[in-house]
Amino acid sequence: AKDMGRNAFQFFTSAMNERAMERLRIEGDLREALQRGELRLHYQPQVDLRSGRVIGMEALIRWQHPELGMIPPGRFIQLAEELGLIVPIGSWVLRTACSQSVAWREQGLGDIRVAVNLSARQFYQQNLVATIEEVLTGTGIAPHLLELELTESMMMNDVEHAVGILHELKQLGVQLSIDDFGTGYSSLAYLKRFPIDLLKIDQSFVRDITLDADDAAIVLSVISLAHSLRLKVIAEGVETAAQLRYLREHGCDCMQGYFFSPPLPAADAERLLREGKHL
Ligand code: C2E
Ligand code: CA
Ligand code: CA
Ligand code: CA
Repeated sequence: AKDMGRNAFQFFTSAMNERAMERLRIEGDLREALQRGELRLHYQPQVDLRSGRVIGMEALIRWQHPELGMIPPGRFIQLAEELGLIVPIGSWVLRTACSQSVAWREQGLGDIRVAVNLSARQFYQQNLVATIEEVLTGTGIAPHLLELELTESMMMNDVEHAVGILHELKQLGVQLSIDDFGTGYSSLAYLKRFPIDLLKIDQSFVRDITLDADDAAIVLSVISLAHSLRLKVIAEGVETAAQLRYLREHGCDCMQGYFFSPPLPAADAERLLREGKHL
């Protein structure tokens, strides 16, 4: 039994070393990923439920690692924050997504709004507003075609400061949305002070919408709350026809999710637009 214990311990430490090694390796490689052109954006369509048409695309980052393959953001965004790399990576995401929207427009594919996720570190960075302004003029995108996705917890850190930044961003003419709405420590009292345009209902509430009365109740109250504050609502993580029907019947404005399309590489997103895919 003693031996077994020792073996199990050795196994455990070597597994831990492997994880630590992987982290070290990813850390080293991430510093180079941007320069090496290994970062990609995928685009997930956002569909207007009234017209059934694609009105926007959320930009979602991926890292094409030369040996480890495609690494999802869940495995490196946090690290990028810790290493202070999120600011240059975030600027790259902003520029790339905005250029893509301009390219789609030039190809006759219409005005496609691009939604970009901001991290907390980026949001509180000194020159965020200047960076966004530079991206707008540099790419030539119409400001209302850029949507910035923020989270509640990000803004609750320092509400006064956040409200100030949000107002400056609104001055630039961009759209602001709250991502994962309902999962942070939301404060309804603050919500009315944030000059935002959209709420994104988190997929955890959408998942069981047709099965769980509590989830349905939450979704319905978010829709009505949003509408009474004159905000639009997007439901995320819509995977089934039943979820879609429910959201449509209850006045949700937009949807996003595997039911319509997963996030796609730029070329596939372009094809989807060209073919005019709709609900
Ligand atoms: P998020 O902003 O909440 O993005 C939605 C996530 O749900 C995406 O995962 C998307 O692929 C996934 N998803 C979309 N439709 C469905 C569906 O129908 N069912 C299910 N189960 N999932 C769906 P992804 O791409 O792995 O991104 C994870 C998170 O990483 C994002 O969550 C966002 O917080 C962060 N992220 C992604 N790109 C960026 C970026 O450029 N900058 C920053 N700061 N964060 C990013
Ligand atoms: Ca998002
Ligand atoms: Ca989300
Ligand atoms: Ca999320």
